[in-house]
Amino acid sequence: MTKILIPNEKSIGERRVSATPETVKKLKKLGCEIFIEKSAGELSGFKDFSYEENGGIIFDDADIWAKADIVFCIKTPDNEKLKKLKEGCFIIGMLNPFGNKDLAKFLSDLKLSAISLELLPRISRAQSCDVLSSQANIAGYKSVLLAAGELDRYFPMLMTAAGTVQPAKVVVLGGGVAGLQAVATAKRLGALVFVSDIRPAVKEQVESLGAKFINLPEIEEKPAESGGYAKAVSSKFLEEQRQILSKHLSEADVAICTAQVLGKKAPILINEKMLENMRAGAVVVDLAVAQGGNCVHTKPNETIIKNGVKLIGASELPGSVPYHASSLYSKNLISLITPFINKGNLDINKDDEIILGCLISDKGAILQEKVFEMGGSN
Ligand code: NAD
Repeated sequence: MTKILIPNEKSIGERRVSATPETVKKLKKLGCEIFIEKSAGELSGFKDFSYEENGGIIFDDADIWAKADIVFCIKTPDNEKLKKLKEGCFIIGMLNPFGNKDLAKFLSDLKLSAISLELLPRISRAQSCDVLSSQANIAGYKSVLLAAGELDRYFPMLMTAAGTVQPAKVVVLGGGVAGLQAVATAKRLGALVFVSDIRPAVKEQVESLGAKFINLPEIEEKPAESGGYAKAVSSKFLEEQRQILSKHLSEADVAICTAQVLGKKAPILINEKMLENMRAGAVVVDLAVAQGGNCVHTKPNETIIKNGVKLIGASELPGSVPYHASSLYSKNLISLITPFINKGNLDINKDDEIILGCLISDKGAILQEKVFEMGGSN
């Protein structure tokens, strides 16, 4: 019987949990035994007794880690816990392997298997397992609420007896999953929304949401994409793009930064000069801050004021909506694992396209060395 361990990630600053009582019930039906670390779901609104009611076993003894066949996690557990795991145990979560050679060494020394969900291939069959999408959607939504809460103005246009209020102007940088959700949320609040992305396909998506697409620089190089992800553009392209964005940002009330290139530093789209030209009172929410940020000066989990502009480094937004973030994340995990559990027995097919894409260690054999070297410059 496959034993699945659900850690309490509070000590590593995480509010989300990788299983809910609903998904524990599903795993139980697949014939698994599920161990949930005491209070693991507390910050997401899931009580220990609800896990127990659905067949989970609550544990408070660190030795249980040695029994696990799979650890479902949000972030990589700390080294002390990893050391307890038995050889061949699967760690499945957002392991952030980019540039993390220590993680590669650790997995290799301890002969652990690891599936890093950031690397899930972007094929139709993988959509239901896509944690980056489920979490980015939340980040996009919450970034706009955060900006609206901090802004010194209204978002909607209002006609009142005291006069007319013009709608806020929101510039969204990056129109992927988080960016499109930010667009939809800002539109619902009544703002005027403009979007910049280097993938031309985004234009139609943005316009269908009632926002305006900011045209790309007209230089010979055409931005490319591979497997659903944008490829990094040249510094010449970025320079031109910043020039186009300058005017929009000087008129903006809010900038939501979501532009990223997988495994690379995020492109700087708001430089010092552009920031100086933004109006005092404007708000920048930088979701790309963990990858270096799209805006100069933003820092993870910090709010800084520069020239009167509020810069919010929002790296942990999915965790600020922990109930839904955990519910969706845990359903993504169920979709991923279900095909590989038969009557309680785990048999992960390493030739499966989805697994091939995101298996980074097979019993300590490091499979995607280049991923551990990524994360450098643009
Ligand atoms: P992401 O988080 O890697 O990047 C966010 C956005 O930043 C992307 O749209 C990218 O084009 C953009 N970007 C990069 N450099 C930029 C620059 N210099 N200026 C402006 N924008 C820049 O991407 P994401 O949001 O995770 O997803 C990107 C696409 O992949 C989406 O269209 C999404 O629908 C698709 N997707 C497909 C699947 C699937 O088929 N299984 C799953 C998830 C996402």
